[in-house]
Amino acid sequence: MNRFIAGIFWILLYLVAVLAPMFIMMIRPTPPGRSFWVEFSIALGFVGLTQMGVQFLLIARYRKVTAPYGIDVILQYHRLIAMMALFLILAHPAILMIHNPALLGLLNPLGGTWASRSGLGAIAALALLVATSVFRQQIKLDYERWRLTHTLLGFAALVLAHAHVSLAGSYLNTVWKQAMWKVFGAAMLSSLVYLRLIRPALQKRERYRVAEVRPERGENYTLVLEPVSHRGLRFAPGQFAWLKLGQTPYTIEEHPFSFSSSSEAAGRLEFGIKVLGDFTRELRHVPAGTDAYLDGPYGAFSLDLAPAAGYVLIAGGIGITPLLSFLKTMADRQDVRPVLLIYGDRSWDGMAYREELDELAGRLNLTIVHVVEKPPQDWRGESGFVTADLLARHLPREKIKREYFVCGPPVMMEAVRAALLERGVPRESIHSERFNLV
Ligand SMILES: Cc1cc2nc3c(=O)[nH]c(=O)nc-3n(C[C@H](O)[C@H](O)[C@H](O)COP(=O)(O)OP(=O)(O)OC[C@H]3O[C@@H](n4cnc5c(N)ncnc54)[C@H](O)[C@@H]3O)c2cc1C
Repeated sequence: MNRFIAGIFWILLYLVAVLAPMFIMMIRPTPPGRSFWVEFSIALGFVGLTQMGVQFLLIARYRKVTAPYGIDVILQYHRLIAMMALFLILAHPAILMIHNPALLGLLNPLGGTWASRSGLGAIAALALLVATSVFRQQIKLDYERWRLTHTLLGFAALVLAHAHVSLAGSYLNTVWKQAMWKVFGAAMLSSLVYLRLIRPALQKRERYRVAEVRPERGENYTLVLEPVSHRGLRFAPGQFAWLKLGQTPYTIEEHPFSFSSSSEAAGRLEFGIKVLGDFTRELRHVPAGTDAYLDGPYGAFSLDLAPAAGYVLIAGGIGITPLLSFLKTMADRQDVRPVLLIYGDRSWDGMAYREELDELAGRLNLTIVHVVEKPPQDWRGESGFVTADLLARHLPREKIKREYFVCGPPVMMEAVRAALLERGVPRESIHSERFNLV
């Protein structure tokens, strides 16, 4: 199946999954004598709840689901859908209470029924889940704590919402509807079990060992992994994997990193990593021989998914890693299509992999433009930031089909994207990878 058809297929399946429970619950016999507004609010509640449930499928990293879009598109969708689900779920009691103000009493957890209490609990869990995700950085919640809280709140919201529907009972008035509802709940929870239990078990069978942690220019390191008793995973240049270090894959701490090695070099895998927080700071102390586990490859930011006569690669800082993999792969494939690399960093001394890139330029049809924010005194190249003017000076003029790949700090990526669009580069030819999922 090509990516476009696969994408449409999953969207249709998503719509069926979200709407089916509502339609099935509406099949007769349904509770008699209900007004339009009551039925409408319940329909909204059902759609909100199934949207919430399908989130578990979205984040379970099923490769077939993520492949057509790339994981950051899936996660962006996950965020939007969560907001929509919250809105629909809030609309459900709001409409009921506007229609019948006597129901306002159910807002008191001590005064209501178990059905209303579980409903309130589900809403509270979902609202907290959305708020902690939207304001994670403002409330200084570190990533690992956020992730644990997120999983627990998501689980609580789903279980409580299911309890609410079962206790309210009106629409589960036949055995087959009850059975269907249980199957739906089990399918959602099984995704969580798959992600947190089955997938680590599979990773345990395909263990890696740290071969080396090599210091690079700037506060960057290359982590080199070797497969233990297996051939190692295959990836497309530009893809990434979630990495766990230590004795067990059953840990909540895992971090995504792009492969920086050639996808043609089977076995040894390399990642270029910048020191940012706890995990990356500890990397320099990780001894050779440490166990490692990988979940991947993921991502649609790849040379192999965007055939063209030439490429323009634009990197900021450690955003060079997936592009380094592009270039190493092209060199191994003896691919001599023209490539322009615009590579910006804060300082010349801290610009990681620049010697390796010079060496690759000797093997490829590669032009490199270094852009140094704070250049040394005798610097003659480009300085400052990657701007529209700078792009205008360097972007190739020959009319051949090119694809543009951008990876770096968010501000740079937005500026570059806007400048490329302004220059008439088609939207679908601009590919970007964000190193920040939340
Ligand atoms: C698709 C993708 C590819 C990436 N590739 C690279 C790469 O090649 N080289 C590189 O240096 N960095 C890469 N990153 C970023 C890298 O994952 C984070 O810098 C790293 O996880 C920070 O962890 P920390 O504990 O050191 O820092 P922290 O201070 O804990 O985190 C700093 C920020 O990194 C993000 N982050 C932290 N932990 C995770 C996690 N488990 N999952 C997702 N995001 C997290 C959060 O936004 C957090 O605010 C990539 C990120 C993504 C999403």
